[in-house]
Amino acid sequence: MAGLAPIDRAKAQAELIIDLDALVANWRLLAARSAPARCAAVVKADAYGIGTEQAARSLFHAGCKIFFVAHVSEGVRVRAVTGAEAEIYVLNGLLSGVERLQSYLSYGLKPVLGSLHDLQLWSGSGIGASVPAALHVDTGMNRLGFGVDELLSLAGMVQTVRVDLLMSHFVSSELPKDGLNDQQIARFEKLRSAFPALAASMANSSALFLPQQPFFDLVRPGYALYGGNPTPGSKNPMRSVVTLRTPVLQIREIKAGESVGYNVQWTAKRKTKLATIGVGYADGMPRNLMATDQRAGGEAVVNDKLCPFAGRVSMDLTVLDVTDAGDVRPGTMVELLNARWGVDEMAERAGTIGYEILTNLSRRYHRIYKGG
Ligand SMILES: *Cc1c(COP(=O)(O)O)cnc(C)c1O
Repeated sequence: MAGLAPIDRAKAQAELIIDLDALVANWRLLAARSAPARCAAVVKADAYGIGTEQAARSLFHAGCKIFFVAHVSEGVRVRAVTGAEAEIYVLNGLLSGVERLQSYLSYGLKPVLGSLHDLQLWSGSGIGASVPAALHVDTGMNRLGFGVDELLSLAGMVQTVRVDLLMSHFVSSELPKDGLNDQQIARFEKLRSAFPALAASMANSSALFLPQQPFFDLVRPGYALYGGNPTPGSKNPMRSVVTLRTPVLQIREIKAGESVGYNVQWTAKRKTKLATIGVGYADGMPRNLMATDQRAGGEAVVNDKLCPFAGRVSMDLTVLDVTDAGDVRPGTMVELLNARWGVDEMAERAGTIGYEILTNLSRRYHRIYKGG
């Protein structure tokens, strides 16, 4: 996906409209919610698929001065569009190699250290005395980060490097009733009292909506900035950021009993009007959105009506049942993602999460950035 040149409008099958004003409004809403804690923006993975440069630039001008990325390469891209003033943390920790360590110094990137190995490497590099780092403590994920007791035992060694942030990450913050949230907060509090001089950060998007309000000094939302629902099961408090539109390529009518698509998975129960669109799984449309005779698949908005998918999603094509959508003809615009049918709705049908939908948004789409 990444690496393909931008596709111009006349040659693209579909267009992805990215509303940077909505992105900024979402950041402001989360910043107001978490104040007086500072609000960062997580812009890893090409800003969850919407575009690192556009997202980081808009957010920086709106007042966001702290960014989190996963990779050094992403940090370099954020630095290029923000001022020297922006603080950029690299979540995935250090990877060995002198050249890579040098990038932290050259671009002023702050590594998020999460193991004794990281700490030794950083301390030994000589860079650790000048560029500040963050310490990531694992309070339950068992993925990246120091163990709680491990970090307590390393307090002396931590003195050998500059550190300005202590952070941890929630396992189930989108489930407010999960008891692990309280346990993680308690473990984090224990460490915070051992490192009282460090700013502290725990909250991702969903944690901004937890009753415990674990905001500390800095919050780190990603998903909600891009319009994803941080409160699954309740109304989405965020503004929609992405709209995906594509024209109908062809219309056909079939009789009851005829099938649609590969392997006869979907059979018409009535006389049916079908519309074929030029978006498929190669565009990041999950193949799991297939509609079979056993289960409903994806849906798309045509003439303000939700129209179900019919049959399997192909590589470059998908078929919709537009029987109930009124006047549909070649060229009629179909919306696959919009404010009404967003990444959460699509993800639920596909058996995945909206994060995966966003980060798979194809480079084949012509991208249109609004506002910002
Ligand atoms: C991705 C990530 C976030 C942002 O999480 P969202 O659920 O997208 O808000 C915050 N912190 C860490 C460590 C992350 O990896």
